[in-house]
Amino acid sequence: MRSGGQAMQPTDDSILDLMASFMNPGLARSFRFMGLTAYEVSAEGAWVTASDGFRYLDFSSGYGVMVHGYRHPRLVEAAKRQLDHLALSSRVLPSRQASELAALLADVTPGDLTYSFFSNSGAEAIEGAIKFARVATGRTHMVATTGAFHGKTMGALTASGRDLYQRPFRPLVPDFTHVPYGDLAAAEAVIGPQTAAVIVEPIQGEGGVVVPPAGYLSGLQRACRKHGALLVMDEVQTGMGRTGKLWACMHEGIEPDLMVMAKGLGGGILPIGATIGTPRAMAFWDEMPLIHTSTFGGNPLATAVAAEAIRVIAEEGLAERAQVLGNRLARVGIELAQAHPDVVKEVRGRGLMAGLEVAHEGLGGALMFELFQRHMLAVYTLNNPLVIRLMPPLVISDQDFEDGLSRLQEAVQAVSLVASELTGGA
Ligand code: PLP
Repeated sequence: MRSGGQAMQPTDDSILDLMASFMNPGLARSFRFMGLTAYEVSAEGAWVTASDGFRYLDFSSGYGVMVHGYRHPRLVEAAKRQLDHLALSSRVLPSRQASELAALLADVTPGDLTYSFFSNSGAEAIEGAIKFARVATGRTHMVATTGAFHGKTMGALTASGRDLYQRPFRPLVPDFTHVPYGDLAAAEAVIGPQTAAVIVEPIQGEGGVVVPPAGYLSGLQRACRKHGALLVMDEVQTGMGRTGKLWACMHEGIEPDLMVMAKGLGGGILPIGATIGTPRAMAFWDEMPLIHTSTFGGNPLATAVAAEAIRVIAEEGLAERAQVLGNRLARVGIELAQAHPDVVKEVRGRGLMAGLEVAHEGLGGALMFELFQRHMLAVYTLNNPLVIRLMPPLVISDQDFEDGLSRLQEAVQAVSLVASELTGGA
């Protein structure tokens, strides 16, 4: 053994050294550059305890995963209970946990969504949707949006709309057309009788928390129905109560043909993805039950926790809480943009899916640095480095939420002060 496995507590630097030597040198460098050398030791609720002994308030929710916060007691309990009986299944006999989760999802998702396919991540769930749309319609043409993020496997990457991540991997999956997000006329111009599906996020997350104009999603649904194309709603980041409703497409009464979920579905405990479709979109299962499979997808452990995660959202009123706290965050966002227009262009979003757009490039890094200095965790949106996501867990207490807002205000003030000193107070 060349390294690791020591009984002694590792130092912060030794962990980054291991990462640099055996995982990803570039990533280790950026951790060092941002001063993020302490590693994560434990976490609970909205707080992460690191090896430097500090508790960090997480306003990023692990890229949107921690809807229920870290290690929600009911979800830890559900996992332990299931572990004591059956973690992974033989897959030779039917699964009770997967079947019960599927029935629950059919109940809580909009419209006629009925059949669930389980996988292990958002990208994998999107791959399922792309394949299901093809086999259901016998067509290959897909419409997606610029700035979109659907994951980084080949199909999901093709559907995503950022050249930076796509370029090294071309040629990608053929027959995709990208149109500007929020522009219904542009989408209508390319959706036709050859289109298998339109893939869209109800709010673009990694694109910079972009809320589309009212009527956009219902317009897409109309255009799809007109041409027999399927509407695929990517709720990987927006789902599970984050925007103030269980699914963000419910704000506009949308009934998708296929819906994709992951992140919060695992309750902050386990990875799981799901693709749920209408009987029409999933009719192929009847003839081809093994046409798409996943060894770990739908395992008893993850599906038992996911069912409990959905119940917790309903029973603890987490979607409603996202709405209330989101309104407070929006008010603070307006104040921040008014008080410090040199730093904050705007804070936008829906519920507790919010993004702060900085006034110009370069300020994002400075603001994140100031937040880290105040022991608050925040991250950029992947496709838009001008936007820092503000997405605390939905279970965050009122006191911790106000504490986070104060840290944010202080960090913005600090960046504003430095910026004005650099420009000579102009
Ligand atoms: N779809 C959306 C909207 C996402 O935000 C993400 C991840 O951020 C994905 C898909 C991909 O999920 P994963 O990283 O689990 O593959």
